[in-house]
Amino acid sequence: MQNDIEGILVSRDTIREKVIELGKRISKDYEGKDLVLVGVLKGGFVFLADLMRELSIPVDMDLISVSSYGASTKSSGVVRIIKDIDINVANKHVLLVEDIVDTGLTLKYLKELFYTRGPLSVKVCTAFDKPSRRKVEIEVEYCGIEIPDKFVIGYGLDYAGKYRNLPDLCTLSPKVYMKE
Ligand code: 5GP
Repeated sequence: MQNDIEGILVSRDTIREKVIELGKRISKDYEGKDLVLVGVLKGGFVFLADLMRELSIPVDMDLISVSSYGASTKSSGVVRIIKDIDINVANKHVLLVEDIVDTGLTLKYLKELFYTRGPLSVKVCTAFDKPSRRKVEIEVEYCGIEIPDKFVIGYGLDYAGKYRNLPDLCTLSPKVYMKE
C-alpha cells in the first residue's frame, strides 16, 4: 500500500485543528437552531464522525449516498442518488457535510435537491476544497483546508475503493492512475 502513496499533503494534526475550529464556528452559528447534518457518502463519513463530536449543540444527522468517480480519477459530471436520507428536513437547517469539493457539480446538485424539501437553509461544510477545479459556481460556507489540483486519498477519500482508512490526506502516486 505504501508504494502507491506519493506523500502526505495534509497531516492528521492539521486536519484535527481545522475540524475543531469548524466545530466551534458551526456550534456558534447554529446555536438555538434545529440543525440536521447530512453526510455525503462514502467519503464524507470520516469527516462527519470527527466534526459532529466537536459540536456543542444538539444535532440530528443522516447520510446520503451519491455516485462517485468509480475507479477513475476524473469526474463524469453525472450525479446519481444511491441512498437518500430517511428524515424530513422541512423547517430545519441542513448542513451538507462533504469530504472534498472539486468541480462543485455534486454539491450544486445536492443543494438544489435539498432546497426542494422545504428546509430553512441549506449550507455546505467540506473538509477539503480544490477551488482551482471548479466548473460551477457554488458557495462553500464552511471549508476546512484548500488544496492544490492533485488527486488525494485518505481521511475517507478513496481510489478504486481503497485508502479511505489513511489518517492523513495523501497524494496518490501518478504511476497508480497512469495505468488506467
Ligand atoms: P465534484 O462533484 O465537486 O467534482 O466532486 C465531489 C466528489 O468527487 C467528492 O465527494 C469525492 O468523492 C470526489 N473527489 C473529488 N476530488 C477527489 C480527489 O482528489 N480524490 C478523491 N478520492 N475523490 C475526489
